[in-house]
Amino acid sequence: MQTAPLQLRLFFRRILIVTNLPGNDVLFIGGGPGGYVGALYAAKKGLSVTLVEKRWIGGTCLNAGCIPTKSLIHAADIWETVRNGSRFGVVSPDPVLDWATVQAQKNKTVDTLRSGIRQLLDKNGVRVLEGTAEFWDDRTVRVTFETGSETLRPSQIVVATGSKTKHLPIPGLDSPLVTDSEGLLQWQSLPQRLIVIGGGVIGMEFAFLLGRLGVKVHVLEFLPQVLPSLDADVATRLVRMGKAANVTVINGAKVLSVTSSPDGVATVSYEHQGTVKTIEGDRVLEAVGRIPELSGFGWERTQIECGKNGGIPVDSRMRTPLPHIHAIGDCTNLLQLAHVASHQAIVAVDDILGQNRPMDYRFVPSVIFTTPEIAQVGATEKSLKESGTGYRVVKIPYGSNGKALIENEMTGFVKLLCEETTGRWLGATVMGAHANALIATLTVAMQNHLSSEEIKHTVFAHPTVSELIHEAALSSLGEPIHVWE
Ligand code: NAD
Repeated sequence: MQTAPLQLRLFFRRILIVTNLPGNDVLFIGGGPGGYVGALYAAKKGLSVTLVEKRWIGGTCLNAGCIPTKSLIHAADIWETVRNGSRFGVVSPDPVLDWATVQAQKNKTVDTLRSGIRQLLDKNGVRVLEGTAEFWDDRTVRVTFETGSETLRPSQIVVATGSKTKHLPIPGLDSPLVTDSEGLLQWQSLPQRLIVIGGGVIGMEFAFLLGRLGVKVHVLEFLPQVLPSLDADVATRLVRMGKAANVTVINGAKVLSVTSSPDGVATVSYEHQGTVKTIEGDRVLEAVGRIPELSGFGWERTQIECGKNGGIPVDSRMRTPLPHIHAIGDCTNLLQLAHVASHQAIVAVDDILGQNRPMDYRFVPSVIFTTPEIAQVGATEKSLKESGTGYRVVKIPYGSNGKALIENEMTGFVKLLCEETTGRWLGATVMGAHANALIATLTVAMQNHLSSEEIKHTVFAHPTVSELIHEAALSSLGEPIHVWE
């Protein structure tokens, strides 16, 4: 059988896809990991794509979040490795932390990634407008540039405007000694003492990063536990380990005010167990959450009202109540994670193309880059207790693993939650070195309903920390090899 040349076939496929649509042009508002991934995916699918970004391609994640933070954390890892190298026979008697170079390396990484994304957008034919998009009505969007403006009436609109730092209504937080995560990332020098308000993901990642670099850190958390989404055993262990990293956590602390002295000392007053106490620091980080960015782009001129959670209301295919407008990422306030935004982008574009692939949030992994790292997927003990699901816990310590021993990374565990009746894997937490990599295998296993028996008969490379997952599968079957029961 003769077939048309590849180029021709692709051309006809493009036409087929496009003619199935009510209109073939889509406008993305916001160029973060939601908007730019959606734009690239839509372009690959043959749509005519415009992306408007008012500040920086890559959004908060690339420019003031995930990427720069992890670059600084990597520098802290190297600092600790060098300082503790003598155990391995690598002796460097007088290492120096050159903060300016740490910052320069971080900025270089961010710049490289940003220009890489820009190139991808250009190469895929996405029209990038560097300006501010504003809804004029449900159908019309005006883009304002430094000079001039342009009015668009796209067939489809995907809103991906992200989120912004939440601020507490507490006196004194407007002091120059107080910063949010974006401001902290630009610090030109390190303080001696830092007070962190909020023991969530941002607060704890910065606490461990700076504590390991020698800053004395106090974390004030309002709830009885930091990182409230995690199980108590994990959070408690992290707090205990914080002591060696200069991090002290005070749970149940209600911050009342911040006063700043002219000589640069910030005094935070807080209520703890019925008593008002104070603590002094050289700087304060406010990290009490992020809220959807719904201002400045004329959202109020559409007929869509905010959802109960304060975000743009969407269904499982990321459709807002208006069928030609989708919303993805932090502005929907469903799960504030970059990789969720990117996945929602694909779901939204597929919906525009008429394919029904709803979002599935059951096995979304998350990684917290404290030391050690903590990665989690699926159910927690807390959520299983709430839903009344019977479960068994399988916990394999890092100390049982050869590669962990080689790296002197024996702290931590892989914890598996298996359904009592079926043995099905419902959730997992990894606390320890390389947790960020291990969680992918666990996610694939759970998303695809692999059983302990199937994992048992999968060969894991040796020596790797991934063998902890194999051991967990064996253990869940009552057949552990490297641990005692
Ligand atoms: P968060 O919601 O994770 O944590 C905020 C914390 O502040 C909570 O523990 C809360 O109880 C506490 N808090 C609130 N009010 C307080 C008060 N008055 N006094 C003391 N504590 C108070 O928010 P975040 O840490 O700012 O992070 C924002 C978002 O960004 C989160 O959704 C997070 O998942 C995401 N993020 C993810 C990563 C990652 O995946 N590695 C990294 C950074 C941020």
